[in-house]
Amino acid sequence: TVRVRIAPSPTGSLHIGTARTAVFNWLFARHHGGTFVLRIEDTDLERSKPEFTENIMAGLQWLGLNWDEGPFFQSQRLELYGQKIQELLDKGLAYRAYDTPEELDAMREAQKANSEAPRYDNRHRDLTAEQQADYEAEGRTAVIRFKIEGDREITWNDLVRDTITWKGQDLGGDMVIARAASATSIGQPLYNFVVVVDDIDMAISHVIRGEDHIGNTPKQILLYEALGATVPEFGHTPLILNEQGAKLSKRDGVTSISDFQKMGYVAPGLVNYMTLLGWSPPDSTQEIFTLEEAAKNFSFDRVNKAGAKFDWDKLNWLNSQYLHAMPAAELTDLLIPYWQGAGYEFDWAGERPWLEQVTALIGASLTRLDDAIAMTRYLFIAAAPINEEGAKKLQQVGCADVIKGIAAAIPNHSPLTETNAPEIIKQVAKDLERKEGQLKPILRVALTGETKGPDLIQSWLLLHQRGWDGERLQAAL
Ligand code: GLU
Repeated sequence: TVRVRIAPSPTGSLHIGTARTAVFNWLFARHHGGTFVLRIEDTDLERSKPEFTENIMAGLQWLGLNWDEGPFFQSQRLELYGQKIQELLDKGLAYRAYDTPEELDAMREAQKANSEAPRYDNRHRDLTAEQQADYEAEGRTAVIRFKIEGDREITWNDLVRDTITWKGQDLGGDMVIARAASATSIGQPLYNFVVVVDDIDMAISHVIRGEDHIGNTPKQILLYEALGATVPEFGHTPLILNEQGAKLSKRDGVTSISDFQKMGYVAPGLVNYMTLLGWSPPDSTQEIFTLEEAAKNFSFDRVNKAGAKFDWDKLNWLNSQYLHAMPAAELTDLLIPYWQGAGYEFDWAGERPWLEQVTALIGASLTRLDDAIAMTRYLFIAAAPINEEGAKKLQQVGCADVIKGIAAAIPNHSPLTETNAPEIIKQVAKDLERKEGQLKPILRVALTGETKGPDLIQSWLLLHQRGWDGERLQAAL
């Protein structure tokens, strides 16, 4: 049976890279009818914050990446880690080392001088009880090191990258699995150790995580063996790269899921885009799909080895496809917080039918939800200003006659409709001996303050329903 997990550290908001790894885990679990576990890796107590845990869980939920078990918190599982470290100590597979930072630095300097790769030379592997006691008496703190034999060869068949082999001698010497230990305490267990204990305890069958963890995997495989557990399968997913081809980082601006959400990306669009970052469906012409559809087709055969470049145009296109296909009621619900956030005042519940007309008017032009703010300003702000280009337009000769003509006709055409509004324009054009095509841009500026925007007649009708069209025309004179 397939059991996978996502194991974010709550030292920041949910990062797009972590979320994308979660997508692949989720798809793999669902494809195989398996279990998806959420584990919060909060062993770094100083940097872990409850608000990041909340942000991570809310982000996964928003994206539709629901988990079957968890959240489990490493900070609540310290007893188990202590037992397992003791087990390794008892078996003689781990030991206490008392090197000071200065001694370790000197060792590395000497290695550097000999052009050797930096590694711990295992000098405290076989301390006598007496030596240990002396170090303790000096007040030194210990770390717990796990023995790594240099002549070991570690091989696994990666789900993405095929066969990977490491030599024990390239793993940097006996590895630290806990720090701040003493003769009587095992101290604070570290990532490479606790992750293995947890994955064993949670019976994880496939460890699917970012490529940046490849170097940890051989060390972790040795720990599985030492703890007498079956080694799971590993799959290392390609990194997400920025425009320059480097790993996407905080410096690239938006990288956390909550930021994408705030900017007005919708969950199905964003998750669809993330699925395509490194994976393609068997029918590679199909670009729009739900998580469930992707799960049906998901396999690691179609996950790329190469890093995936983040492509804003593609994300924007996908997001717009979801927005354009969304029913007006649903889209209205999503837009209201953006309008409110912009400070627009309105009877959101009471005037719902009018709002849905606004949504229907602009829905097909949206790329992101926040586009709606500028696009509909003239519909929410009573004294919407006329922009520079618009003001220039209104200075042209004959504008006043056009505006006056239309304003005068409105009361005789109440209620204004899709049929009689165009007739007003036609009639005024005829009266002034001008073309309708010349009148429309003038009317648009007078009504909306802008030279471009959503459909003119619909905009006019919406303003008319608010009782604002007459005033706007007067104000434009
Ligand atoms: N806490 C680690 C991270 O966020 C988990 C790595 C793993 O999946 O093993 O990168």
